[in-house]
Amino acid sequence: MLDKPIESLKGVGEAVAKKLGILGVQTIDDLIQYFPRRYDDYSQLITIIKLQPGPVSIKAVIKQAKGRYVRRGMHITEAVASDDTSSVRLVWFNQPYREGAIKKNQEYFISGVFELSSGRLAIMNPAMELASDFPVNTARIVPIYRETKGLKSGVIRKLVAGLQTEIENLPETLPAEVVNSNQLIDRAGAIANMHFPVSGTKLAEAKRRLGFEEVFALTVASLLNKQANQKQSALAIPFDEKLARQFVASLPFDLTNSQRRVVWQIYQDMRKPVPMNRLVEGDVGSGKTVVAAMAALMAMAKGYQVALMAPTELLARQHGESLFAMLTSVGKQNGISLLLGSMKPAEKKRAHIAITSGDAKFIIGTHALISEKVDMHKLGLIIVDEQHRFGVAQRATLQKKAGHMPHVLSMTATPIPRTLALTLYGELDISLLEDMPAGRLPIITKVVSPNSRLQMYRAIDKELEHGRQMFVVCPIIAESDVLNVLSAERVYEGLARKVFKHRRVGLLHGKMKPVEKEATMAQLFNSELDILVSTTVIEVGVHVPNATIMLIEGAERFGLAQLHQLRGRVGRSTDQGYCYLVMSDSKAPTKRLRAIEQSNDGFRLAEFDLEIRGPGAIYGSAQSGQLDLRIANLSDVRLIATARSSAQTFLDSGEKLSKYPALAAQVQSHRAVTNLS
Ligand code: ADP
Ligand code: MG
Repeated sequence: MLDKPIESLKGVGEAVAKKLGILGVQTIDDLIQYFPRRYDDYSQLITIIKLQPGPVSIKAVIKQAKGRYVRRGMHITEAVASDDTSSVRLVWFNQPYREGAIKKNQEYFISGVFELSSGRLAIMNPAMELASDFPVNTARIVPIYRETKGLKSGVIRKLVAGLQTEIENLPETLPAEVVNSNQLIDRAGAIANMHFPVSGTKLAEAKRRLGFEEVFALTVASLLNKQANQKQSALAIPFDEKLARQFVASLPFDLTNSQRRVVWQIYQDMRKPVPMNRLVEGDVGSGKTVVAAMAALMAMAKGYQVALMAPTELLARQHGESLFAMLTSVGKQNGISLLLGSMKPAEKKRAHIAITSGDAKFIIGTHALISEKVDMHKLGLIIVDEQHRFGVAQRATLQKKAGHMPHVLSMTATPIPRTLALTLYGELDISLLEDMPAGRLPIITKVVSPNSRLQMYRAIDKELEHGRQMFVVCPIIAESDVLNVLSAERVYEGLARKVFKHRRVGLLHGKMKPVEKEATMAQLFNSELDILVSTTVIEVGVHVPNATIMLIEGAERFGLAQLHQLRGRVGRSTDQGYCYLVMSDSKAPTKRLRAIEQSNDGFRLAEFDLEIRGPGAIYGSAQSGQLDLRIANLSDVRLIATARSSAQTFLDSGEKLSKYPALAAQVQSHRAVTNLS
């Protein structure tokens, strides 16, 4: 019944079904799980004589109702509602059907805002329904659902109200022991109260129950993943101290304390015959590449292959170059081999041969590396840059490919607050790169309103005069009629022809051919360009030490994490970095822009983002669908801690997960999560 398509409900035709589909609701079960975005509290019934301005609910009969057009296109219905204590005026605008719909001398619940209208107090545009034991739109805590064009919250409310019986009969998903020992309300009651809360207390209990379940299922999933990982075997990679020292001595800088500690943790993991599954979290510029190089070094020294996967080809190439430079000092540079989707067939074939023969020791590419039909038989270590994790499906593929499970090192610059990391990534061991390389100056960040452009350009030109370079990032490639934002192409024209016509300006965007992109990037690296205008292709990881200025157009359109990433492209040396966040209009800056203007600390910004937008914010929309905690509030540390320990106890008890099919299904879908597509 619950997995039936939504069209099978009375009152849902093709049109409504399509609209619901936009909201992600396809089945009856989806609708049951489509929780309100917020609630309006109309639960307090009062007598008319006690009415005070504000949201109110009354129980009254309607004595008279009259509709009329006051002018073309403007209709008013006025009615008088009375109870034992007094009478009150009701007013509706442009709802001409009201007059005919009102049944005289019947008791109604009426909820709306009591306020002044044309100098007299009235309840404006109230909702009303015949008084009953189960009002839906009035005299209760009224659920407000996220709407889409042509589908109002009220329609969704009515559909959900029609599912009372189904909701009452929802089965329990959690083991009874877990429900009892944590004083949770049952699942049916929780879902009923999410939609139509009996009281504020019940609503809080409902959220607690469902939030608990989310965290419980996620934790079981990550613990199972961890167990499975530890049962697999990996190639043990011994620690060669002399080689490590030689490498560190060859670097033009001292490692930070964090880098030392993290590399040590990695070496400890890799020497075991159990696959490492470690996530290195370090803010932009904290020096993750060296850490990756040092991990790779040990594997290569033992004769094992290493694969490094980057999110874009641009970044893969750049990694290739910097790793080549780093590994030269220890004579390992020639084992590096690129494998990219855009390579010519002949080039690709050469790479394949080198990989199969084992000449290629360190293979660098995009995530397509996993799907490439290439035989990496001695794969000892996989490094995943700028990604959060690796699903079971990918693990299986890799294991098949290599015959054993490689060690996995993931690196991310998207700081994940600790509570979130523990909940979502329980199967990973986490290392933090907390300190920045010495001598870095905090980037100076300014929010700029469009009418202060000239001043900004003047300040920028002074920097360019000193031989510095600038990135300009725009939200879209070409002009669009819909969005009133500056496109990369238009900005490029404006800068190259007018503002900076005395400078060398380049353009880069995702629609360009790889060779073109590469040529443009090369120009930038070789200081043949002063300014590079681009879309967000520049976002992750790109490293041009001489670029000290980042200018972001339409800054209010970007997420906090993304802005921080973009800003991280500059200030990557000891020179002062600048970041200008230019807004599309002269409205007051958003909280987000203010936050980023005031802080350079990625972890603090992530916590802040979590507070204002919820966990989905951190992962972007594609990933949030699966990883988003919809109900659990991550700042509710107590709830998370109890749910986590309860999940651990459940697994330790040895009880079979398969006894709880609905829970098992949730767990399974979490286990399969992957961010690598
Ligand atoms: P990210 O963590 O963003 O990937 P990178 O690995 O690209 O950062 O490092 C940024 C820059 O900092 C590079 O030029 C790198 O050589 C340099 N770097 C890394 N570690 C140190 C260090 N300990 N001291 C000084 N500079 C460092
Ligand atoms: Mg990096």
